Amino acid sequence: MLLDLVFPRSCVVCGSDGAVLCEVCEARLERLGSPCCDRCGAPTAWPVARCRECAGRRIAFARARAAVAYDDSAKRLVGAWKERGQRTLAELAAELVNGVVARPDADTITFVPADQDRLLRRGHNPAQRLAEGLAASWRLPVVPLLERAPGRAPQKGPTLAERRRNVRGAFSLAGPVPSAVVFVDDVYTSGATVSAAASALRKGGARRVEVVTFARAVR
Ligand SMILES: [Zn+2]
Ligand SMILES: [Zn+2]
Repeated sequence: MLLDLVFPRSCVVCGSDGAVLCEVCEARLERLGSPCCDRCGAPTAWPVARCRECAGRRIAFARARAAVAYDDSAKRLVGAWKERGQRTLAELAAELVNGVVARPDADTITFVPADQDRLLRRGHNPAQRLAEGLAASWRLPVVPLLERAPGRAPQKGPTLAERRRNVRGAFSLAGPVPSAVVFVDDVYTSGATVSAAASALRKGGARRVEVVTFARAVR
């Protein structure tokens, strides 16, 4: 690839020469398998239906799953993937998800829409690339089902409650919604964004929305 000539390859986590993610750093990424909360995917000591993190909250998605914990290594990987837009990193993320998350029972895969500013600056939507990678192995069509509602630029509020308020109503439908949808984002942090997106999809007619992300914040 041309980019390889411009940027010699080095590990995006530790900086060592060679692969874009070296074997040591790849092995060290903390995989999030089971046991976990069946609903939100938070790692737990034993399998539970709802956990401390999600119990009592209104959540529009049926379940959320992620490949790795959003620790410092994963943050560096996601940062490089978003800013440099290397396709290799999106493919790598899809591979890691595939190794941890079982194929959801769905008929369509969609992704969080990029806000226009970021899309223009980066020239790509990381979540879309991840969805495309997963769609290939899960044999599902990728359909852009959501748009950013106009005038609702995402703001990162300092508190969880503010973040939840900020994303409410942030998405509108881009077209007809099938009944079982996989929704893809790069990182699950508070769950507010994915729940707002799932809520829009449910209002649009989806019976079931499963969330899949590359990484997940672990409290
Ligand atoms: Zn490394
Ligand atoms: Zn939970």
